[in-house]
Amino acid sequence: MSIKEKIDALRQELSTHNYNYYVLDAPVISDFEFDRKLSELQALEEQYPEYKDATSPTVRVGGMITKNFETVVHEYRMYSLDNSYSKEDLLDWEKRIQKGLGDAPVEFTCELKYDGASISLTYESGGLVRAVTRGDGFQGDDVTTNIKTIRSIPLALKGDYPLKFDIRGEIILPFEGFIKMNQERIEIGEEPYMNPRNTASGSLKLQDSALVAQRPLDCLLYSIVGNNLNFATQFEMLGKARTWGFKIPTTAKLCKTTDEVMQYVDYWDVHRHQLPYETDGVVIKVNSLQQQEELGYTAKSPRWAMAFKFKAEQVSTVLEKITYQVGRTGAITPVANLRPVLLAGTTVKRASLHNADQIAKLDVREGDTVFVEKGGEIIPKIIGVDFDKRPPSSHPTVYISHCPECGTELVRQEGEAQHFCPNDMGCPPQITGRIQHFISRKAMDIEGMGNETVELLFKEGLIENYADLYTLTKEQVMPLERMAEKSAENLIQGVAASRSIPFERVLFALGIRYVGETVAKKLAKAFKNIDAIRTADMEALTAVDEIGERIAQSVVSFFKNDANRDMVDRLKSYGLQFSLSESQLANQTDVLQGQIFVVSGVFEAVSREELKKMIEDNGGKVGSSISSKTAFVVAGDNMGPSKKTKAESLGIPIISEEDFMKMLK
Ligand code: AMP
Ligand code: ZN
Repeated sequence: MSIKEKIDALRQELSTHNYNYYVLDAPVISDFEFDRKLSELQALEEQYPEYKDATSPTVRVGGMITKNFETVVHEYRMYSLDNSYSKEDLLDWEKRIQKGLGDAPVEFTCELKYDGASISLTYESGGLVRAVTRGDGFQGDDVTTNIKTIRSIPLALKGDYPLKFDIRGEIILPFEGFIKMNQERIEIGEEPYMNPRNTASGSLKLQDSALVAQRPLDCLLYSIVGNNLNFATQFEMLGKARTWGFKIPTTAKLCKTTDEVMQYVDYWDVHRHQLPYETDGVVIKVNSLQQQEELGYTAKSPRWAMAFKFKAEQVSTVLEKITYQVGRTGAITPVANLRPVLLAGTTVKRASLHNADQIAKLDVREGDTVFVEKGGEIIPKIIGVDFDKRPPSSHPTVYISHCPECGTELVRQEGEAQHFCPNDMGCPPQITGRIQHFISRKAMDIEGMGNETVELLFKEGLIENYADLYTLTKEQVMPLERMAEKSAENLIQGVAASRSIPFERVLFALGIRYVGETVAKKLAKAFKNIDAIRTADMEALTAVDEIGERIAQSVVSFFKNDANRDMVDRLKSYGLQFSLSESQLANQTDVLQGQIFVVSGVFEAVSREELKKMIEDNGGKVGSSISSKTAFVVAGDNMGPSKKTKAESLGIPIISEEDFMKMLK
């Protein structure tokens, strides 16, 4: 056997085992045996790179890093679904369908509505070529490298598949894997994830595909679009796609009457809790593709499909106590501590009460029996009080007037829902929260330091604010709990390394209220250095695009505060970046001032991201969709047809990459 044959045989074999394990859920060899063969293949591929192949099972392990996910225009738009919440709505829809089809016989395919992140997979000649998120339905992000790590997604198809098509489905995180991931996180002292859906969708945008490979993601498919497709109905499509290697739940059912549809809905409303993943309803689709075409689409969804949403599960339990949490910005959140109760498979002990108004509106009191509901979130919410069960001794809830952490009197600004503790310099959770924000990944990204270290350093009196981080020494840190020489060194080094973090991130790290990542970028760009921001008045600040009164006021009051000014001075003296760098300053003009550009298609000289940056660097703005406000559409190859029509109908000039470059000259 030649090397090439050997590699091919191993690939074939491993693909089959992958399919048996992840799609059919019926493995035939041991995990150990599988890993051994995979290592063998990996070794061969390394030794003979000339046989590299993008669909080899070895790509499942990940390892590719994506810095920026390219935007890709969907060849076929990804529509939403209309929702119905009652059987009456559903019957009305079926009547409309019947009428629309002139009373011809109609059959329906019923499927479960899988609750995850939608994805569109493009296959050409049986190979997976691209995976794109839903985005706004017209264009999404290219997440192919991450998607390839999901074992149940076939990289190469079998059988009589069409030459080119897009298949759509949902990336989900089954409960079992989700719970396991959370257990591991809790063990290493990290916050557990809120719910499987958000975690699944967040996973798609991780930069390191090796991390995605470690997550127990799955992909369930439900629709195919393309030309020259070899099936005539939705139900037939599901069956065929299954034979090509896709994972398609067998819970789908062909229903010949509306009664059968209703039975399906009733059955799954009860039995969905036994499924290994989250579902939030049923999707009913007209089965015949020809009838689908006759019925067509509204502006956002197909007329031939309807989602039926299950009612969120509800239980009642006793609210034992209301406690209050203080966040980084001093915002107070009231929390309901409940008598533990089982809800949709998990024990619930706490629920959020949001704010004082919410408590007043519901008239919730300690000792009340309350109705608790679980929507998509893991933290459930209280939706009402069972007044019949209210104890006669009950008193209306009096919202706290003073901070539970530092005793300062709380304030509530006009128009704000939340109460705040104004003692930002002396309230412990606010102090540590600010430092934790400062060191976080999107801010100063200090390696070797986590939220718990911050709390420890603060508790031990080693730091009182983020400027103190820069005077810490190894000797001070080493005696701390769970610290050793190496970890102490890493911490000090991590702090030192953060001196090179660019200005806009330092500005974000300062934790000025309402100055998030984007606002920080805008301010940095407009003012170029901290002194200009520090001395800017309301007028100068609000003159910056998208900076309103609220943000401007917050910036002004931050720098009015002596303690903040001192801290910035100290940080300056430690060598942090407080102005845009030379290279950032170069290439910046105002020639596109205030004009909105929409970018579409693929470009030659620059990447789409670079093009967007050039627009922004020269004072323009990047819009996500074409509207009457759009000044120009910059079109590359493969501009989306719907964008083109839209631009033309609104009379917006479509310019090429070269035209754009000329504008900058
Ligand atoms: P919504 O996000 O509530 O508008 O619901 C529409 C989404 O439901 C679609 O974008 C799909 O991602 C998702 N979905 C889940 N299961 C199905 C299914 N069986 N058929 C069609 N769409 C589904
Ligand atoms: Zn306080």
